[in-house]
Amino acid sequence: MKDKSNREIKHIRFSITSNCNYNCIYCDQEGFIPKTSELTVDEITKLCKILAEILKITRIKFTGGEPLCREEIIQIIKNVSDLYLYKDISMTTNGLLLYEKAEELYKAGLNRINISLASLKPDVYNKIYNSDSLEKVLKGLEKAKEVGFNPIKLNFVLMKGINDNELDTMIEFCGKNGYILQLIELHEVSDAIGGNGDFYKKHHLDVKPIIEELESRAEEIIVRGSMQNRKILKLPNSAIIETITPSHEFCMGCTKLRVGCDGNLFGCLYRSDLGKNIKEALHNHHSLSKYEQIVKQVVDSREPYY
Ligand code: SAM
Repeated sequence: MKDKSNREIKHIRFSITSNCNYNCIYCDQEGFIPKTSELTVDEITKLCKILAEILKITRIKFTGGEPLCREEIIQIIKNVSDLYLYKDISMTTNGLLLYEKAEELYKAGLNRINISLASLKPDVYNKIYNSDSLEKVLKGLEKAKEVGFNPIKLNFVLMKGINDNELDTMIEFCGKNGYILQLIELHEVSDAIGGNGDFYKKHHLDVKPIIEELESRAEEIIVRGSMQNRKILKLPNSAIIETITPSHEFCMGCTKLRVGCDGNLFGCLYRSDLGKNIKEALHNHHSLSKYEQIVKQVVDSREPYY
């Protein structure tokens, strides 16, 4: 299904809970605040099936809040995997509960994992995540590798005056351990959830010059046609860096549909207000074409750029 700007929806970002065991200083809360209760496991499974069938997509990412805080997380992954409709089931997590859950997640059918890791220094980690759990997260990371997750991506949100002096350390860490570094430019938090004006102004760093410098060192540069035209750089130390920088070009390449944990379907991190809640409709046993109408309405609400 394409939106009015001819962008095809190719994957889903699905928040399965707004609960979180962290309180990160940069958090965008995935751009929305739930208005009603969380979808049940059965509702999530049904919605994943409907979306795969309507949109002919095979990729889904689970997020939160913190997805590992959702008690039924293993069941959710297993149910979605057992649909045999998704080839790529991934998750983004802060990693705090990963050590305990990595093996079960892998066995349930989770294919890939992203872990938020904006610092390797315990004091800086503590400042960013309000948590002194760096060591536990690193153990979870190792466990994830051990049980077979591949690739593992580390989400490194760059913040001026906080962790901008750690980029080289992170590149080295990723190169040595075979992790992919996602270098993420801090973005403004949507007004729909209260914004982050002062924090953003103080700590935002334009990542473009840094990417240019990295490009000059890269052995290979790839642009992913989907996924917001993200660039992938392969450095000589075998580190792979993916770059995520918000811009018009970034929005132009956006191929994502978002689902909030209460069933709100929306097309953009910045416009959850344009969403449509599908929770009730899930109980009406509509035909696929009726669900398609609801999804199309949301997809058509996507503006070209925000
Ligand atoms: N709790 C999970 C986690 O830590 O991965 C999932 C939710 S968290 C909102 C998902 C990702 O959003 C984080 O890894 C981070 O990279 C990104 N993120 C959140 N707020 C951001 C911001 N203001 N700027 C850039 N990236 C942000």
